[in-house]
Amino acid sequence: MSLVVQKFGGTSVGDADRIRAVADHVARTKRAGNDVVVVVSAMGKTTDQLVRLADDVSSVQPEREVDMLLSSGERITMSLLCMALAELGVEAVSFTGSQAGMITDTVHTRAKILEVRGDRLRSTLAAGGVPVVAGFQGMSLEREVTTLGRGGSDTTAVALAAALGAEACEIYTDVSGVFTTDPRIVPEARKLHRVSYEEMQEMAATGGRVLALRSVEFARNHNVRLHVRSSFTWEPGTWVEEEDAQMEQAVVTAVTHDLSEAKVTVTGVPDKPGLAAKLFRGLADRNINVDMIVQNISLHGTTDISFTIPESDLVTSTDVCEGLVAELGATGVVSDDDVARVSLIGVGMKTHPGVTATTFESLAAAGINIEMISTSSIRISCLIRAEQAEDAVRALHAAFGLA
Ligand code: ASP
Ligand code: MG
Repeated sequence: MSLVVQKFGGTSVGDADRIRAVADHVARTKRAGNDVVVVVSAMGKTTDQLVRLADDVSSVQPEREVDMLLSSGERITMSLLCMALAELGVEAVSFTGSQAGMITDTVHTRAKILEVRGDRLRSTLAAGGVPVVAGFQGMSLEREVTTLGRGGSDTTAVALAAALGAEACEIYTDVSGVFTTDPRIVPEARKLHRVSYEEMQEMAATGGRVLALRSVEFARNHNVRLHVRSSFTWEPGTWVEEEDAQMEQAVVTAVTHDLSEAKVTVTGVPDKPGLAAKLFRGLADRNINVDMIVQNISLHGTTDISFTIPESDLVTSTDVCEGLVAELGATGVVSDDDVARVSLIGVGMKTHPGVTATTFESLAAAGINIEMISTSSIRISCLIRAEQAEDAVRALHAAFGLA
C-alpha cells in the first residue's frame, strides 16, 4: 500500500461544493487502496481577509497574535473537510499543525520547520483513517503557535511527505500544472510534463506563482517528488523531480516575470575597497534579500551601485542606504519601484551558448530597454520598465519557441 500526501490550496477548497468535491477525490484515492494524508489551505481568500481585518482593528500587531489569527483559517477547512469525508463513510481526523507535531523555530510569521513528529498521523493511518492537517502552521520550541509565511501550506505538505516517506506529494491547485509561462499573458503557453527541482526553484524565485519557493527547496533537499495538478479537472499535471536524461532538453524551459521587485541606486560612491561590503552588510543585517547588483566605475573615480530587492523591503532598504551615504562618501540614494524582472529559465542553458544574445535581440526588437541584467548557470534575468513586462514575456516566449 502506498502513501500519498494530497495538498489542496485555497481555491480548491473555496466553498462548500469545492470541499465536497475534494472529499470525493480523497475518498476515491483511499478506496483505490492508498494511504492518504491531506493538507489544506484556508478557504479562498480567507488569509487575506484576516490580514485586512487585523489592519482595520489595529496598527500594532504583535506577531504572536498575527500567528494566532492567521492559523485559524486552515482550522476551518480541515474540520469541514473531515465532516464531508464522514458523510462519505471515510474515517478522517483533523489536526492543527501543533497536534500534527510540526515543530518550528520561534520566528513568528515566517517560522522554519525543525522537525516533524507526526506520531498521531501515523497512528491514524495505522487505524485506517485519513489524517487531515492544517497547512501553514506549527508549534515552536516555546510551545507557541507559529505560521510558516504566506504560501506555507505547500511546505507543510512537502515536509509531511518527507517525514512519512510518501510516494509523492500532490499539490492541487486551480491550474492544471506548471506552464512555460503565465497562460493569462500567452494563451499558447504549454503545460510542462516534467520539470527539475533546480528549474522549479528558479521559477518559484522569479515570479512563477504555482509553488512556494521554500517548498521546492525542501522537496529538493529531501527528494520528495511533487505532482502539481488541478482540483477542477483532476487531469495529470506537472511532475517536479530530479533531473534526468529523459527530461525535455529544451534550451529554455520557462519564462517568468515579477512585478514585485524594486530598484535602489546609491550614486557617486567613491571607488575604494570595502564600500560595497559596507553597503551590503548593512542590508544583510536587516535581512534583506538582494537579487541583481550592478556597479561600474566611471572615469571620475566614483561609481553608482544599483541593486534589486523585493518591493516590500523598499522602505527599509532606502533607510539603510540613506543611513550609510555619509559614511560611504556617496552623493545620494534613488529608488524606483516601477520595474519588472523577466527571467528565462532552463537547464539546457548550461550547454547552449547564445541564449543571452537571443534574449537581448528579441527584447530589442520589441523596443524594450534593459536596465539591469543578471545571469546564473540556468537563468537570465533582465530588469525592465514594469509596463513592458507582458510584451517582454510574449517576445521571449516566442523567440525561444516555447509555444
Ligand atoms: N493560507 C496561507 C496563505 O494564504 C497559506 C497557504 O495557503 O499556503 O498564505
Ligand atoms: Mg499557494
